[in-house]
Amino acid sequence: MTEFTKTLELKLVAPNAHKRQKLRETREAYQNALHDAFDAGCTTQTEANDVVVNYDLSGYAKNALKKYVPQLTTTDNAGELHDDHPVRFTNEGLRLDHKPENAIEWYVKIPHHEDYHLWMPAQPNPEQRDWLEALNAGDAEMGESRLFERDGTWFIHVTATRDVEDGSEASAEERTPIGVDIGEASLVTVCHRDDHSSPTAPELWADEGKTVRRLRKTYFTATRRLQTRGSERIAESFGDDLWNQIDDVFHRVTREVVEYAESVENPVLVLDDLTYIRESMDYGEYMNRRLHGWGFAKLHAQIRYKAVEKGIPVETVTPRNTSKECHACGEVGHRPRQATFKCSNDACWVGEYQADVNGAVNIADRYLSGESRSREHPNDDDSAEDGARLTAPQDSQADAEVQ
Ligand SMILES: [Zn+2]
Repeated sequence: MTEFTKTLELKLVAPNAHKRQKLRETREAYQNALHDAFDAGCTTQTEANDVVVNYDLSGYAKNALKKYVPQLTTTDNAGELHDDHPVRFTNEGLRLDHKPENAIEWYVKIPHHEDYHLWMPAQPNPEQRDWLEALNAGDAEMGESRLFERDGTWFIHVTATRDVEDGSEASAEERTPIGVDIGEASLVTVCHRDDHSSPTAPELWADEGKTVRRLRKTYFTATRRLQTRGSERIAESFGDDLWNQIDDVFHRVTREVVEYAESVENPVLVLDDLTYIRESMDYGEYMNRRLHGWGFAKLHAQIRYKAVEKGIPVETVTPRNTSKECHACGEVGHRPRQATFKCSNDACWVGEYQADVNGAVNIADRYLSGESRSREHPNDDDSAEDGARLTAPQDSQADAEVQ
């Protein structure tokens, strides 16, 4: 078991004049308290407390100062204080909230003073999405956070810690790739090849796909109805509740995906490269929201952090043609029905195959072919069509309502 700590960065998105004013007030009070306690030469928490207690700051900032000032005066031997110290808050000072239905998905609660705090939309570093999911689920521990302004933009840095199991020393070639297909009909499908190279033990989370579609549809129809009635607040809490239910489904499924991987010797989980999907497609605002809505990024991030926790590596591959090619012969086939893949090669034994399983095997095979480490076709249009299967026909009604 190894303990990992990371600093997560969140950019506060366009705070309005009122909130910017509050942030500046917090910073000013903090700087004044820091300077006073430093100039007074406080070397203990008690001494620092006597100074900072007089300031209009939250307990989280005061407690952080009580720890920080003695550090500066005793161990660091700082000669003079600069004016650009970030505002520190002790752990649990900050709160995170995730609202996948909103254009800006993440929110942070920033302590202002004793009884007052600010909820603000925040944009995380996309590379750190897995850590945010872990924090949000309580699977990583939140440490100290720091608030600061850089070139007119406000940022929050949060330290997060989690325990990670040490993985096996198996080389990339010795690993068994498990393809993970995220889709519409089946929320997630996993499959891998056995010692004889035959696809084996496919697992589909199809009921969960139905549940998520139903919840999402309820969200779109019911909240719109509530909004037209002017019940904005009811709509919001009702919406939050539905998205929490979706998140619960996601957490259960991603946990089961990792359990599947644990049952395979020297596994590596192989996922579609989400960055690649995003970069190569001009979805526009609406499709981006759909993509978020379906929770691709969320499922990815949850699988990632849960796999890493268990010492299981995760690789990504370019999603080009993974849903269109036959896993046996490589020929491009078609889908007579949503869940069926039909190979167009007469000489191929496959004929008809479960479409999501076919996709999962193809994703696993991309790892073996070495595509996981390269991006050979950055402008390949096929990936756009692959991604387009996110818009399955059964959801067209809900879609129309979003538009
Ligand atoms: Zn075939």
